[in-house]
Amino acid sequence: MTNNSLVIQNVSLSYDNGKVLAIDNISFNVSADTVCVIIGPSGSGKSTLLRTIAGIEKNFDGNLFLGGEKLSPKTKKIGFVPQNYGLYPWLTVEENILLGVRIKGKIMGDIILKMNNIMESLGIFDFRHRFPKELSGGQQQRVSLARAFLLNADLLLMDEPFSALDAITREETQNIFLSLWEKHKLITILVTHDVEEALYLGKSIIVLSKKGRIWEILNNPFFGNRDLPIFLFDEKLEKISIF
Ligand code: ADP
Repeated sequence: MTNNSLVIQNVSLSYDNGKVLAIDNISFNVSADTVCVIIGPSGSGKSTLLRTIAGIEKNFDGNLFLGGEKLSPKTKKIGFVPQNYGLYPWLTVEENILLGVRIKGKIMGDIILKMNNIMESLGIFDFRHRFPKELSGGQQQRVSLARAFLLNADLLLMDEPFSALDAITREETQNIFLSLWEKHKLITILVTHDVEEALYLGKSIIVLSKKGRIWEILNNPFFGNRDLPIFLFDEKLEKISIF
């Protein structure tokens, strides 16, 4: 584990004045060049955990560190890709992509160059003056990815980013994400309830149980590999396929 790791230490959070324990004493580390996937059944605390790491949920017990320092959105750049893409309908594609860097600082010429390169590699350059409603779901998701990668975040968090896409577009967008990620290698946490997606995109996979606890942490030998071998359903992986 390098000094750049994300460390999640004994994190718990409850809602309704302690009546609903959404995540219960969660601890794990994510090393710098890793996509970590969190998978679990509905209500297992995946979104709560992601929102806590993002700094959206503030009322939690435990500690979060990134690169050896306390993790805070005030000191670290955190990219967040929500389920519904998080695009502003009144802004163009280009304006939406620039939003993250605009909030964090001045727009420089090299940022525009980088944005154009990212838009080219995502196949959305020609749509840069359109508005989100003029794009398909897959294209909107690419805009959301472009925004996250342009920010050059210290940490990228993605909440079921591909779940609203049809099967073919989902595969395509997953591939695009992975090739962008290979270039930028942002420390990434991706939440999903899809086992195939977890196996394709997760270098490490955290399996949550219904009670918001860690059930299993897996190092995934199938990361980036779509041709899953027949022996996939060994004892451990079978566990996650039951959701
Ligand atoms: P998941 O993302 O795995 O579906 P969530 O993190 O959304 O799980 O929810 C975990 C638990 O916390 C569930 O029991 C859910 O009902 C509860 N919960 C989530 N958000 C709130 C909230 N804002 N107020 C009260 N309970 C909540």
